[in-house]
This record gives sequence, structure tokens and C-alpha cells, in this order.
Amino acid sequence: MAEYAHLGEALGTDFFSVREQFTAEQWDRFATTRTFVDTEVLPGVGDLWERAELPWKLIRRLPELRIVGEDIQGYGAAGMSPTACGLVHMELHRGDGSLGTFLGVHAGLAMQAIAMCGSAEQRERWLPSMSTMDRIGAFALTEPDHGSDSVALETSARRDGDHWVLDGRKRWIGNATIADVVVVWARDTDSGEVQGFVVETPTEGFAATAITGKLSLRSIQQADITLTGVRVPDENRLVEARTFADCARVLANTRGICAWMALGHATAGYDAALRYAMERTQFGKPLASFQIVQQRLVHMLADLTGMQLYCMQIGRLADAGRLSPTVAGLAKMNNTRAARRILSEARDLLGGNGILLEHHVARHWADIEAVHTFEGTETIQTLIVGRDVTGIGAFS
Ligand SMILES: Cc1cc2nc3c(=O)[nH]c(=O)nc-3n(C[C@H](O)[C@H](O)[C@H](O)COP(=O)(O)OP(=O)(O)OC[C@H]3O[C@@H](n4cnc5c(N)ncnc54)[C@H](O)[C@@H]3O)c2cc1C
Repeated sequence: MAEYAHLGEALGTDFFSVREQFTAEQWDRFATTRTFVDTEVLPGVGDLWERAELPWKLIRRLPELRIVGEDIQGYGAAGMSPTACGLVHMELHRGDGSLGTFLGVHAGLAMQAIAMCGSAEQRERWLPSMSTMDRIGAFALTEPDHGSDSVALETSARRDGDHWVLDGRKRWIGNATIADVVVVWARDTDSGEVQGFVVETPTEGFAATAITGKLSLRSIQQADITLTGVRVPDENRLVEARTFADCARVLANTRGICAWMALGHATAGYDAALRYAMERTQFGKPLASFQIVQQRLVHMLADLTGMQLYCMQIGRLADAGRLSPTVAGLAKMNNTRAARRILSEARDLLGGNGILLEHHVARHWADIEAVHTFEGTETIQTLIVGRDVTGIGAFS
């Protein structure tokens, strides 16, 4: 058997017995995704990452596993509990951030935007084919000049009879190069309010160009989009998306999921570091026998256990319909910070092998950087929580 052959596979790290709290439904989703990751995702994922190749074979498995569609009920969607959603995203990211982010954009952002802001007819029109992934979704909010301050977005929507005309630019839009259904957030030129429009591609005036030279989440693409006089029928305007606050509702929902994603990456790092430290011999002894190595592993475990507790509690709050955007923001901030620490330690504990794709850790070390930034950076989450605890807004 090859040296370090099982690096990357789950050790089942659960020091505080957090998993005893799982319901049968949560166990089922968790176990299904874990088995898929260990047996189907890990074997070829490093090569896909290196070649920046979309993992289509793995993407096609997601609807077969019935994990597409978050907690949306009906329309062929997964209809998971929020905690089960978190567990699924955790496990996918433990295997591969690209695959996990692909699903996060498609289901967590695009499908949820339609589910939360669409009419009954609009949900019926798009969600079933998105649940089966016969149609792929994207969510276009960020612009070249508006990232953290996306509230100030400049893409315009002008009413023209029974159509709207969209003009503007978007940046960093996941799945946009291959998406069939792109939820575009644009400002109504009359009211000045931000509204959501479903742009079905291909359509005249819509162009998406992949961002290249990317060192994180290499297997999936984000795109620069230009919208030049794109005509969208009024029936494609999401009827419940009337102001930016409606867009923010969708993002608040996925912010907590980002905390679970970070936990997945961190778990991969810790498990690989522990396994490697047990197997690798230096100075005639396993690395794990040295006090400093044990201390580093235990500090990683302490961080990881804290992240698990954060996730279980935001899961419980979400299950009860009580997860606030601020609490989700604290969880995202805490967990991406902790994941970066853990992955940095893990990368070092693997020595030179720590920078090789075949040992998995380097990929997670690079991929956590994207999670750290998207859907509100660590700093923006900090400012959101800071505003909540002080009552003073420091950024708007
Ligand atoms: C891999 C990836 C995938 C993405 N997918 C999508 C997607 O599918 N759809 C979509 O719409 N967007 C997507 N995004 C965009 C993402 O949400 C933005 O990158 C993010 O919100 C940050 O915006 P920015 O990159 O413009 O950075 P900026 O806003 O320019 O921030 C740069 C730095 O300044 C800091 N900063 C900003 N404002 C303040 C302040 N007031 N005080 C202190 N510090 C501040 C930030 O924290 C950061 O450190 C994606 C991004 C990435 C990297």
C-alpha cells in the first residue's frame, strides 16, 4: 500500500461527542455525503484542481444523492433540516471546496433566491429542473466596483413595456459561464430600489468570461459578466425581491452555511495532520511522539471542537427558525479564522508534503481563502457583529 494512502479520509474527529445530538435525518444526510466524499470525491480531486477542470461527474452525483435544494420543501428539492444542510456542506468541503461551492452557489444562493423571493408560479417554473441539476443556477450580486459594499450596486434595470432592460457589470459570479438561470440583482432606474431578475441564458447582451489565474477553488469557475441591454420579461422579475433587504435575506441564510464549510476544510486539515504525524518517522520516532507536535495537534483540536460547537448551535437556532444574520456572521467570522489557523498548522506539519496536491492539505489551505472572502469577508462580518453589540455602525 502506498505511503500515506489514507490521508484525506475522515478520522471521525468528534472529541466532545457532538454527533450524539444528530437526529436520524441528520445522520442519514451526513453519512451519505461522507461516504460519497471518501469513496468518490477524494480519489481524483487533486488532479481536477490542478487542471482547473469542472468536476462534472461528481456534480451529476449530487441530485442522485438527493442533497440538492437545501431546506426547500417540494419541487423535487432535498428538503433537508438546516442542520442537515450544514452537515452536507461540511462534508462536501471536507472533500473538495470546489464541489461544495458549486452546490452552495447553485442551491444555497440561486435556488434559495427563487424559493425565498419568487412567486408560486416562478418557483414551479425553475426549481424542479434546478433540483435535478438539469438547469444550473448562478447568483450575480458583486460588481467590479462594489464587493463589500454591494448595497451600492450600479447595474441598472429600466422598465420598457412588459420587459426590463438590464445594463451593467458583475464580477466573481460562480457558475456563470455554464449557468442556465442567473439571478441578477439590479437597481430599478425609477424607484432606485434593488430588485432580483432571473436571466435565462444564452440571451442577447449577456456575456460571461471566466476569471483565470485563480489559486483557490480551481475546479470551478467564477466569471466577469457584462449585461448590455439584456431584455428580461417582467414575469422573470422575482416578485418578492423589492429592496436590497430581500437580497440580504438570502445571503443571511447562506452565511451560516459558510461556517459549516469552514469546519469541513478545517476537519480535513486536522485529520490529515494527525494521521501524518502518526505515520511519519523522524529522529527514529513518529512525529506524534514529540511534545511540540502533540501540543500543536491539541491546539488544532481545540479550535476544531469550538467550530463544531458553533455549528451545532447555529444549526439548532436555524432548525428553530431563530438564526439571526448577526449570529450567523459571528459563526462565519470565527470559523473561517479558525480554519485558516488549522490549515496553516496542518500544512507545516506535513513538511514538504504539505505543499503537494496528493496529500490534500495544500488544496484546503488554498480553498479556505475563498470561503474566508465570499459572502462577506471576515472584516465585514466583524463590523456587522460590532454594530450589533455597540449599536454603532462603523461601516455605513
Ligand atoms: C471564489 C469567490 C466566489 C465568489 N462567488 C460569488 C458569487 O457567486 N456571486 C457574487 O455575487 N459574488 C461572489 N463573490 C464575491 C464576494 O462576495 C466578494 O469578493 C466579497 O464580498 C468581497 O468583495 P471584494 O472582493 O470586492 O473585496 P473588497 O470589498 O474590495 O474588500 C477588500 C478588503 O477590504 C476590506 N474592507 C472592505 N470594506 C471595509 C470597511 N468598511 N472597513 C474595513 N475593511 C473593509 C475587506 O474586508 C477586504 O479585506 C465571490 C468571490 C470569490 C473570491
